[in-house]
Amino acid sequence: MIAPDLRSGVELLGDMIAASSRIVPFTGAGISTESGIPDFRSPGGLWTRNRPIPFDEFLASQDARDESWRRRFAMEPTFAAAKPGRGHRALASLYRAGKVPAIITQNIDNLHQASGFASDHVIELHGNTTYARCIGCGQAYDLPWVKKRFDEQGAAPDCTLCDEPVKTATISFGQAMPEDAMQRATELAQHCDLFLAIGSSLVVWPAAGFPMMAKNCGARLVIINREPTEQDELADLVIRYDIGETLGPFVGN
Ligand SMILES: [Zn+2]
Repeated sequence: MIAPDLRSGVELLGDMIAASSRIVPFTGAGISTESGIPDFRSPGGLWTRNRPIPFDEFLASQDARDESWRRRFAMEPTFAAAKPGRGHRALASLYRAGKVPAIITQNIDNLHQASGFASDHVIELHGNTTYARCIGCGQAYDLPWVKKRFDEQGAAPDCTLCDEPVKTATISFGQAMPEDAMQRATELAQHCDLFLAIGSSLVVWPAAGFPMMAKNCGARLVIINREPTEQDELADLVIRYDIGETLGPFVGN
């Protein structure tokens, strides 16, 4: 059913949370807009003004790597200032209460970790933009390391161990999905009694498959998103209200 108003949506959600012992949240960009992180895919969002750089271009061209890093550095004030919102904090409360074993996210902003989730319990389908990795050997680098070398050399640096390019630890267009994260997300979706899809339009594959997978394995499904999604008819409860307003009552519980 579609919640007729915010208050009844929150009540119904509260009942379902209380009745569940293994809740798996799945989050998209909508949960982080309250934290000042823009939804890159939204109309007028960054990706409609700046074409994303596909992975093969990043690999093939120093210019593409330089441009990619210039854009990332330009976003740093936004990412560095972002603090967990009410949605993040509510989910962290459920995690601390032992109701949420781990969280699946399409977001790259590290805000679930910042809200109190152990890194190992955040399954990042699209990676993480708050640090970098060598695409050859996987060596991790922090962003100040990359910025320092970029400024000194005037170009994006390569790995000091293997000379392959260093890239934010995100999954670019055209880059393979992380197998381990996909496997863990699948297991979580298949073994929960409540699946919460929050702030995702549920159109990007394979992410869009998880709500249906959970539902098919017997979980109840709640979709919280301002706009209708293509999976709404599958859901036991659809809440089309602001995520902070909807999840705010669950902070600290
Ligand atoms: Zn390397």
